[in-house]
Amino acid sequence: MNKNFHNHRTLILNATYQPLSIASAKRSVALILSNKINVIKTSNLELRSESSTIKIPKVAALNYYVKAPYARRVALNRENIFIRDHNICQYCGVQAESIDHIIPKSKGGKHEWQNVVACCKRCNLIKADKDLNQTILKLIQSPLAPEGNFWIKTIIGSNPDPEWEEYLISA
Ligand SMILES: [Zn+2]
Repeated sequence: MNKNFHNHRTLILNATYQPLSIASAKRSVALILSNKINVIKTSNLELRSESSTIKIPKVAALNYYVKAPYARRVALNRENIFIRDHNICQYCGVQAESIDHIIPKSKGGKHEWQNVVACCKRCNLIKADKDLNQTILKLIQSPLAPEGNFWIKTIIGSNPDPEWEEYLISA
């Protein structure tokens, strides 16, 4: 087994072909051997044994439907806030580097989706512990709690395999 094998990621779709999770090569092989997935796209990685060769999939679908347990709630953390806000400062539009609480925590602002935004260093310094209307800053858009299939983006991360693309449209 080589480095490619260890770095490989397989996109697992639900039986409905909606993206569900990402599996390692090892996990994909286990799912194939237990007849739980149908391979949709293979990669050029293979796992050879004396009796057989298994092509490691790039995309596979479960042959049964599962209710996605994590579809309900996306963790409110720095990484997911950055994904929601596309790594862009929500005050000025440049690359974000930190998180700002719109109503500062010191003034009773809550740590919730509607009160946090990705923010650049400069805006964070301007904003500091002030209310928004005490500064020159304006929000580009009102922050919202993620909905729908947003959670799959948090699983896939920021650089999905290009070959997954057509299966991520619903995400
Ligand atoms: Zn900014």
